[in-house]
Amino acid sequence: MRLSRSLVPTLKETPAEAQIASHRLMLRAGLVRQTSAGIYAWLPAGWRVLQNIAQIVREEQDASGAQEVLMPTIQSADLWRQSGRFDAYGPEMLRLKDRHDRDMLYGPTNEEMITDLLRQSVKSYRELPQNLYHIQWKFRDEVRPRFGVMRGREFLMKDAYSFDLDHAGAVVAYRKMMLAYMRTFRRLGVQAIPMAADTGPIGGDLSHEFIILAETGESQVYYDAAFERIDYSAGAVSYESEADLARFYETMTTPYAATDEKHDITAWAKVAEKRGGRGIEVGHIFYFGTKYSEPMGLRVAGPDGSQVVPHMGSYGIGVSRLVGALIEAHHDEAGIKWPDSVAPWKAAILNLKVGDAACDAICEGIYAKMAGNALYDDRSDRAGAKFADADLMGHPWQIVVGPRGAANGMVELKRRATGERAELSVEAALAKVL
Ligand code: ATP
Ligand code: MG
Repeated sequence: MRLSRSLVPTLKETPAEAQIASHRLMLRAGLVRQTSAGIYAWLPAGWRVLQNIAQIVREEQDASGAQEVLMPTIQSADLWRQSGRFDAYGPEMLRLKDRHDRDMLYGPTNEEMITDLLRQSVKSYRELPQNLYHIQWKFRDEVRPRFGVMRGREFLMKDAYSFDLDHAGAVVAYRKMMLAYMRTFRRLGVQAIPMAADTGPIGGDLSHEFIILAETGESQVYYDAAFERIDYSAGAVSYESEADLARFYETMTTPYAATDEKHDITAWAKVAEKRGGRGIEVGHIFYFGTKYSEPMGLRVAGPDGSQVVPHMGSYGIGVSRLVGALIEAHHDEAGIKWPDSVAPWKAAILNLKVGDAACDAICEGIYAKMAGNALYDDRSDRAGAKFADADLMGHPWQIVVGPRGAANGMVELKRRATGERAELSVEAALAKVL
């Protein structure tokens, strides 16, 4: 994209309404604009980041064996009456009426709808297990929307739903999702900590929140740093091996990650590398047995012909919250420092003298070679403004093209994360970036 022709409305001033770094930086870098309380429009750069995150989430869900679908945002209240949640959900649910006076709602989550879909389509134990997910907008009328997209009212979530014949099957599905989540967050460039969460009236220990560390987090978390070195890459743990999954689950859930209020930290005294801090919840996985399948009448014929009530789990990732959470984890005074995997563009090309034949030719050449992966700052602004905007927007690389270097075919390459700079030929710079 050419910056001179793009809608990237960066701001020099700090917007007064933003209390935390990620919210300030998302507004200043021109990623989003609020359209009403807790509801945001995603501008070109922000939309690219959101899509990059969603794509990594998607690839890891697919790798785990989950299937992508797309369910509607608007749901019928009748389904929610069958589970008993229509009246129970409270004021966070946005309720609507259609022209025939039928009760509708904007989905805050999709357990009822997916259970209905399975009820219509799956008849036999042979068709289980199933795990279905979608990446879709949700609406929750939060009392206090705040921190920008971190606690919005409309937000993008990946939610998956597993269906198994029995508890043992559901446990395997749960472990697969935990593995998919750890791989997802690692690819996104953050350390996520699975923390045992309250299961409420259902009981048991099968609920985990995934917390990433940031000072502005709403949750307190303690963990063993040894945990950061656990290898759960594709070679180390296979989705196909229940033994692998069990071992992985064991190592993930014993590293003493917990809040001190809610949970005992078993053996905390023995932990050699104690870590603690505030964290942001970016995902939540939950096993809830037959809570929805039972009242909604989801049944499959078992091997002996008897009617079996499938066991379910649900698995959420806050895709839009992650944009803010990643910025909380990766920024400095000057702006965002995007991890390579999610950056809106791999590099910015800064033309320090637009109109200079050598500068223009080098920039156009690099821009063409980068095939859509670069933001070309071709504005006729001062160099200082271009440097400031590039730091603010957080491109992993800056390719700086000035008249002195350009005359000799040289550019300066800056790595945003470390601040390292090097004088390189165009070819060498491109080789590093691509
Ligand atoms: P929280 O405790 O933060 O209110 P939750 O427990 O209500 O979240 P879940 O129902 O578990 O959230 O939803 C799954 C994920 O969706 C959460 O882990 C979070 O990352 C994200 N999420 C939930 N509410 C919001 C929101 N209002 N704005 C942005 N993301 C959200
Ligand atoms: Mg939660």
